Amino acid sequence: MNFEMSAEHEAFRRVVREFAEAEIAPFAVEWDRDHRFPLETVRKMGDLGLFGLPFPDEYGGSGSGLLTLCLAIEEVARVDASLAITLEAGVSLGASPIFRFGTEEQKARWLPDLVAGRALGAFGLTEPEAGSDAGATRTRAELQGDEWVLNGEKVFITNSGTPLTSLVTVTARTGPAEISAIIVPAGTPGLVVEPAYRKMGWHASDTHGLRFEDCRVPAANLLGERGRGFRQFLAILDEGRVAIAAMAVGMAQGCLEQSVAYAGERQAFGQPIGANQGVAFRCADMAVAVDAARLLTYRAAWLRDEGKPFRREAAVAKLYASEIAVDATRHATQIFGGYGYVDETPVSRFYRDAKVLEIGEGTSEIQRLVIARGLGLPL
Ligand SMILES: Cc1cc2nc3c(=O)[nH]c(=O)nc-3n(C[C@H](O)[C@H](O)[C@H](O)COP(=O)(O)OP(=O)(O)OC[C@H]3O[C@@H](n4cnc5c(N)ncnc54)[C@H](O)[C@@H]3O)c2cc1C
Repeated sequence: MNFEMSAEHEAFRRVVREFAEAEIAPFAVEWDRDHRFPLETVRKMGDLGLFGLPFPDEYGGSGSGLLTLCLAIEEVARVDASLAITLEAGVSLGASPIFRFGTEEQKARWLPDLVAGRALGAFGLTEPEAGSDAGATRTRAELQGDEWVLNGEKVFITNSGTPLTSLVTVTARTGPAEISAIIVPAGTPGLVVEPAYRKMGWHASDTHGLRFEDCRVPAANLLGERGRGFRQFLAILDEGRVAIAAMAVGMAQGCLEQSVAYAGERQAFGQPIGANQGVAFRCADMAVAVDAARLLTYRAAWLRDEGKPFRREAAVAKLYASEIAVDATRHATQIFGGYGYVDETPVSRFYRDAKVLEIGEGTSEIQRLVIARGLGLPL
């Protein structure tokens, strides 16, 4: 057993950290305040190769695997959650379904731009009446001649309305007991992109509801096998959950570093607040939680990269890391006192940004369901 990162991984982490410190951290407060999707910075992340990490070089990627992607997401999330989710969703939910289940034609058409970060893909699973219970999907796709005709509605879809969005992969009922995945190119007539949500956090990330009104796409846009859409999305979410765990680790790490720095500087009663055990022990507990979450996340990513089963480990990592990230943002805000409550302080943004980690790509309850089922409980 070896707990040491390779020299290549450490060098890669340094590159992403320097990029995040220079190109993201100084502007994050402004993007958050203005609810602005930072298009140019997303492009720069593409130029750095971040959207191509897990994909082979025939599509322009670097074939580096899920662990490397996790390092990138962690480093971006350490300074800004919005760009971390843009990257996570672009890779795990946008490009991955095409790479894993697409035909050669579909891969050749879509992947080069997605992998280069010149385009973003979205994944439309959630509906007003089908979130955790995704099998309750109501969106319909009917085969008419050589076209699918889609009707229905999706909610909360990340990266679905940016100027870079090239496609949405949509789960739809193609028969009474059949859910399939269909690629809908951005701009297809009948695909209506609702105005962006006003969210509690992730202000610089793009999230819309989508409506499909007799939206027609070629029959060849079926992704993977007809009727396998449900299984496909479960496989996609397993990887996505590890990536969300990495995001949580990065956010918690950011909170820890900021808390330690502030606790060393801020004076009260003639000494730094960090000289009080009440503050110092909070930091110690955060450090333990970050370590544990990071190890769980890397284990799940490593299992995936080794081609071993990792569904349970992905759920464990996602559950634990997202919950300790929410705790870490709360502790950090407390350590910052009143300054932790104003928008200019990063920890206040982190506090708003973290909550959704316990909700997206499977709520904490759904992770517990997966883990409990794995224990053999009759759920
Ligand atoms: C900012 C943001 C971005 C998102 N991006 C995407 C995206 O790109 N693509 C996409 O498809 N979706 C996306 N989502 C949707 C997200 O995945 C869902 O919100 C999530 O899966 C929960 O579904 P729901 O909101 O319908 O809640 P519900 O399923 O209605 O759950 C409500 C509550 O009930 C609990 N619950 C439900 N069933 C059970 C059960 N069996 N046992 C115990 N508790 C249960 C849940 O855990 C939760 O606490 C996004 C959401 C947000 C907020």
